[in-house]
Amino acid sequence: MQVSATPRVLLLNASMEPLCIVSVHRAVVLLMSGKAAVVEEGGVLHAEHLSLPLPVVLSLTRYVHVPVRRSVPPTRRTVLQRDGHRCAYCGGVADTVDHVLPRSRGGRHEWGNVVAACMRCNHRKADRLLHEIGWSLLFTPHAPRWSLAFGQAAARAEPAWSPYLAA
Ligand SMILES: [Zn+2]
Repeated sequence: MQVSATPRVLLLNASMEPLCIVSVHRAVVLLMSGKAAVVEEGGVLHAEHLSLPLPVVLSLTRYVHVPVRRSVPPTRRTVLQRDGHRCAYCGGVADTVDHVLPRSRGGRHEWGNVVAACMRCNHRKADRLLHEIGWSLLFTPHAPRWSLAFGQAAARAEPAWSPYLAA
């Protein structure tokens, strides 16, 4: 098994919700102290005198209360990530962000009013409302359930994490 130069471990709360990404070193400390348990393994970690299962996903053995979820503001990057770079109007590859209710008509810059859009749709829609041009959204935009910037980037970095990061 090929281990990347700086393997990272996804740490879940005892409730199996993602908490953060930790280094393997930190993961081993958590394991050895019984504060976390291995959820997914990804090979074997060879230290000097011992071999340990290399954790890919860990969960805390005791629930840690996280008082406030850090909310991610809708930016071009985070909206494109949330929508998987899919245009909300035609399903094509999106690289722009569109306000469903245009800002010029009172639309707010908030998660429920922004979608990924391809350049073509964005241009064609311009400052019009969907019903005026007979368009509809392929999905309903929502605020991401948790820190999406972290989640999406993490899932790309480590495919084994994705089931735990699904919004
Ligand atoms: Zn489009």
